[in-house]
Amino acid sequence: MTHRILTSLTLVGTLLLAAAGPARAQETDTERQAARDVLQKMAALEKSLDVPGIVNKLTAADPGRDAVVARAHELMTTELLALADDITTHPEIGFQEKRSVAALADYLRKHDFTVQVGVAGLDTAFIARYNRNNGAPNLGVIVEYDALRGTKGAFHGDQHSAQGPVGIAAAVAMAEWLTKTHSPGSVTVFGTPGEEMMPPNAKTVMTKAGVFNGMDILVRSHSTSATSRPAPGFGTCCMNIDGVKYTFSGAPAHQLTAWNGRNALEGVIHLFTNVDSVRASIRPEARIEGNITEGGAAPNVVPDRAQADFYIRYPDEVYLRQVTEFVDNAAKAAALSTGTKVKIDHYGQNRDGISVATLSEVGFAYMKKYGATNVLPDPGKPQGYEETGSVSREIPGLGFTSQSSYAPNHTYEMLADATKEVGHHGFTVDAEAMTALLYDFATHPEYREAVHKEFTGIQALFAEYLTDLEKVYKTPNVPDPQ
Ligand SMILES: [Zn+2]
Repeated sequence: MTHRILTSLTLVGTLLLAAAGPARAQETDTERQAARDVLQKMAALEKSLDVPGIVNKLTAADPGRDAVVARAHELMTTELLALADDITTHPEIGFQEKRSVAALADYLRKHDFTVQVGVAGLDTAFIARYNRNNGAPNLGVIVEYDALRGTKGAFHGDQHSAQGPVGIAAAVAMAEWLTKTHSPGSVTVFGTPGEEMMPPNAKTVMTKAGVFNGMDILVRSHSTSATSRPAPGFGTCCMNIDGVKYTFSGAPAHQLTAWNGRNALEGVIHLFTNVDSVRASIRPEARIEGNITEGGAAPNVVPDRAQADFYIRYPDEVYLRQVTEFVDNAAKAAALSTGTKVKIDHYGQNRDGISVATLSEVGFAYMKKYGATNVLPDPGKPQGYEETGSVSREIPGLGFTSQSSYAPNHTYEMLADATKEVGHHGFTVDAEAMTALLYDFATHPEYREAVHKEFTGIQALFAEYLTDLEKVYKTPNVPDPQ
């Protein structure tokens, strides 16, 4: 049973935004006004870095880089594309990716990594450390492997099946190079389960457990139908999200003498209607979408347990707090008015992440250099390299996205493309570009300094922006009735 709550205003807002020119993180007039100073300072920061100069310098001829990239290419074509195909054809949904993790861990062990499977309380998370790690810079690679939950069973319609092989090609090529050249540096591969699922937010859990501590850079790849890179700044693809479950308890009774019980399903239904009734008091960009996951077992028994699962979204996390409070209060009111009780579980959250041009423009130049197709000329919206924002707001990094399908994400067509030329080509380009960027990061101290300067600068500006938003989202004073 599904019940969606939307306003037509949301759609109008989205259309206006699409016509407004270059992609911006700020989606509302209020946000744009609050961000004015911060965006000016960010433009000055970007100008001071001379990113085009950095790109030109790093992507110039370098036989050392070419050799490492050639090794990553060789690993992909001789072994790792086959491993990607194997995982593609054996899909496992989030937190059940045992076979996929075993295959990736086996490969890493054979290439001189020590692998710990089961990390931060997550059975299918892993950390693989190169056995000859030699201090900083600490290069980290994030890989995912969960399939989508489809009506016909699990399927790799988002091509996470290739992320492990892509990341491992770059990790092994760089690890071998560090050893061969006696260069300082370390390589760690992080297996992060369940990208498509929460709870829990695997990356947030892993961040809180300190799993990524000490990394100087994190890279990751992801399938796409168009080669792109984000603009520098803070933002997210799909708004800030709170995942919240509302579980109502009542008391059972015969439905013909329902006054002897308390109906938990009525509590859930009131929750939905209470949210609808306060729509006008919530800013129109909010998206509040829920479904009823439990609604009773039989029509002649008063349901004594019912549950609703919500994703509550707003473009920024500051106003999102107010929206979520509205929904929580709608649930409490629903319980009070129906004589039931409600348990509120804030089980997950996705937040803005940080993207930096010093990494994204260099990575983008390499994707083009190695033959990426369907290249979008302009940078997209600022966004982190992972979906939760919890990692990308703490550690600089980049997600590599060269075209690996002709179809949109989460489709059977994208699944089919994973084992075809378009998929194999895109995955190989991602592996090569990822390797080249890690090589540059490891070999150029002044580049690391530029990345650090940009990242910490944007972190500070992001904090300033959030403080500015706190000032504009004041709640009205509601006096006690006389
Ligand atoms: Zn995905």
